[in-house]
Amino acid sequence: MSRYWSDVVSRLTPYVPGEQPRIADLVKLNTNESPYGPSPKVLQAIREATADTLRLYPDPEAEQVKLAVAARFGVAAQQVFVGNGSDEVLAFAFIGLLRHQQAILFPDITYSFYPVYCALFGVEFVTVPLTDAFGIRIDDYLRPNGGVIFPNPNAPTGCPVAVADIERLLARNRDSVVVIDEAYVDFGGESSVRLIERYPNLLVVHTLSKSRSLAGLRVGYAIGNADLIEALERVKNSFNSYPLDRLAIAGAVAALEDAEHFEKTRRAIIGSREKLVQDLKKLGMTVLPSTANFVLARHPGRDGAELARALRERNILVRHFSEPRIDQYLRITVGTDAQCAALIGALRGILA
Ligand code: PMP
Repeated sequence: MSRYWSDVVSRLTPYVPGEQPRIADLVKLNTNESPYGPSPKVLQAIREATADTLRLYPDPEAEQVKLAVAARFGVAAQQVFVGNGSDEVLAFAFIGLLRHQQAILFPDITYSFYPVYCALFGVEFVTVPLTDAFGIRIDDYLRPNGGVIFPNPNAPTGCPVAVADIERLLARNRDSVVVIDEAYVDFGGESSVRLIERYPNLLVVHTLSKSRSLAGLRVGYAIGNADLIEALERVKNSFNSYPLDRLAIAGAVAALEDAEHFEKTRRAIIGSREKLVQDLKKLGMTVLPSTANFVLARHPGRDGAELARALRERNILVRHFSEPRIDQYLRITVGTDAQCAALIGALRGILA
């Protein structure tokens, strides 16, 4: 607290990202990054962009990225917005599309940045409890609202929502924007992008941080009706003309064009997840059904915080949240098979 702070800053409770410690030989399974590097074509494109041209501003519209997204999803470039990580895209959606008289709805257990943006931008919200099985029940969202947002699959549970259910929500919820945050959809989920032609109030948000192995480059995008995209552009052009630098633009285009690397790495992660889930269950752990690159798991006889601490002593980092209902769980990012084996070995030792 400082007497120089504005009221709004004094009242904020900022989001706390997972740790990024500089410890050698750490098995880092705490922030849902990819265990695999980005496509070599991405590195090559960034090397080529690392040139004298860095003295020039980048394209404020990042048109090349929009075109690459548009080509991949069969939409028009005017239906694409790009930002500095999907966190920025989400932030602009909160201020540009979700801030109305009525409160917005999101799950009680979900991405913890949502309430932070609400506080920053003055967006009223009501949380909707997940079911006892940690699922999102669409019927609970069929009520007046200023907007709806949730990740699919949800985070930090990993549990998916069927696109048919999202369509049911859209069909019954015509008067406010529905934002589907598909940060983890490429690991076995079903995308809602195909619904944007029929529902002008649907915004789908993606990131290159997870399935494109580019958390360090900071690129995210949204797909939706051109009207919704224009709202995001208006916010962006009132905030920062150049959210994507020249290296990010070059890398993002190369990443979106390399379907082969994308398929190979995401399939490897899906395979490792299936094995990890089986191994965790063999240790007596309860694992929620996940279509993400992480799983939420608990041991019925051990405290969650204590397990996370014991793993950390063994140089294995997982994420523990102290929120009610999930405070006994660990959120474990799916690593390489070797990293998952190290985790299982450590857990076996701790539980013995
Ligand atoms: N949405 C969800 C559900 C996430 O877990 C994350 C990662 N913390 C993001 C969005 C933001 O990812 P990024 O800003 O790296 O695109």
